[in-house]
Amino acid sequence: MFVDIPANGEPLICPSCKSLILPGQATDRIAFANDNPDGLASMNGLYHAPCAKPLLSVKRAYDMLGNWGSGF
Ligand SMILES: [Zn+2]
Repeated sequence: MFVDIPANGEPLICPSCKSLILPGQATDRIAFANDNPDGLASMNGLYHAPCAKPLLSVKRAYDMLGNWGSGF
């Protein structure tokens, strides 16, 4: 399948629903740290805003746990 690659080099395919992200659609970026020990950085990317929503709440919880962990 031909995918138009924009100037920033990222194909505009939402990793969650595997559909094209069309110009003008609301998007959210998921950005786990690249040295994330659980490999969650593989989920990084640009998602449709509704698709990113559950991931963002997972990320929030995860970041919170990470902060708790480093506090002990
Ligand atoms: Zn999507």
